[in-house]
Amino acid sequence: MTDRFGRKIEYLRISITDRCNLRCRYCMPNGITLARHDEVLTYEEFLQVAAAAVGLGITRFKVTGGEPLVRRGCVEFIRRLKALPGVEQVTLTTNGLLLAPLAPQLADIGVDGVNISLDTPDPAEFAAITGFDRLDFVLAGIDACVAAGIRTKLNCVLLAGCEGRVTAMARFAQARPLDVRFIEVMPIGEGAGSAGLGPQRALELLQSEWPDLHPVAEKRGNGPAHYYASAALTGRIGMIDAVSHTFCAACNRVRLTSTGMLKPCLCYGEGADLRAVLRTCPKRLPAVLRQAVYNKPQAHCFGGGAVTEQKGMSQIGG
Ligand code: SAM
Ligand code: SF4
Repeated sequence: MTDRFGRKIEYLRISITDRCNLRCRYCMPNGITLARHDEVLTYEEFLQVAAAAVGLGITRFKVTGGEPLVRRGCVEFIRRLKALPGVEQVTLTTNGLLLAPLAPQLADIGVDGVNISLDTPDPAEFAAITGFDRLDFVLAGIDACVAAGIRTKLNCVLLAGCEGRVTAMARFAQARPLDVRFIEVMPIGEGAGSAGLGPQRALELLQSEWPDLHPVAEKRGNGPAHYYASAALTGRIGMIDAVSHTFCAACNRVRLTSTGMLKPCLCYGEGADLRAVLRTCPKRLPAVLRQAVYNKPQAHCFGGGAVTEQKGMSQIGG
């Protein structure tokens, strides 16, 4: 469906849990107050929302978290989501820790892609950023995904002081070879207090290593990343610079939190309480969803400091 500004909304990110097995310093370094189990939607409830969303023309879904793979039954949920009539694409975003043994199953059920978050290929830096000395698990997850033939991308957050890591991550991705996308820190939750490296500076660093790195007009997913190519690189380099470059005019997405809040825009706390609808009057679901999507805000307010979202990224799903 289109919203009141004429944007076609066709993509829903579903956060299936607020729990996580890492403590990334820009996300939830000290953990969060977790939702009670009865506050979190059941898989049946997520599927009810997804079916209603398909009825409105939302055909592509991202399963995220917290860390989605810590919730038991995640792969089976993805299988059922993919099997809903009208669903065209289901992808997963994960920190990769639990991925290796699940990659063959994800390939079997036909997951359409897996994005793996990795901010550094260095074990000590990984432990410093995430709080856990577990880089090996992530590397095994990446290798297993590639070996299983799953379309795999890497996501790397541009933290302050990560100058040395930008080209290291690009080289790491190239060795697979995979696309790597660099994400500007967003002022959500802990991100509000985390200084970041500017995307323009990251690009300069990359261009000092690969001088022919140039923008390409390729669409390689559902997101707002714009991509760069070099003759020396097989994979592409993506930039997701939502803060310095507003791409709200082309926004195609809404988000569903694990507790059933439909969020039309990342930056605002307002949303539709679909859990209440699901548990009291489920036949109203399509109408409530339609209204919330229609009223999606015109643009985020990251530059202006009027962010009303109080939840952290792990509660929203990124
Ligand atoms: N746990 C999974 C993971 O890390 O991929 C899925 C959820 S995580 C919230 C989704 C994405 O959001 C990750 O790529 C993570 O790096 C990114 N993220 C978290 N906090 C962020 C922030 N403040 N600014 C930008 N990206 C952020
Ligand atoms: Fe967990 Fe992902 Fe947040 Fe890191 S970014 S703490 S892996 S939810």
